[in-house]
Amino acid sequence: MDTPRNRERFIAGAVCPRCSEMDRIVVSVDGETRRCIACGFSEGRPEDNPLPLPTRVSRPAARRVETTAEVVKLLDPASSGKTEG
Ligand SMILES: [Zn+2]
Repeated sequence: MDTPRNRERFIAGAVCPRCSEMDRIVVSVDGETRRCIACGFSEGRPEDNPLPLPTRVSRPAARRVETTAEVVKLLDPASSGKTEG
């Protein structure tokens, strides 16, 4: 038995996470389900399944760059000129 009233409301300024279209997200009457009318994407309440924080991955990666700088320091003062070949 479906709801007799399919009154979905548009979310102003909402951007679809799938097709990145703006003002295409509609919320169900109960407000528990969001749907994209552009690509058909649908999802429940965001609070139900919180996404993991990806910021943690960036931290160790940045540190590695600093260590690499030391390895690159292999410039010989003697071979200053271009003697290749
Ligand atoms: Zn979409």
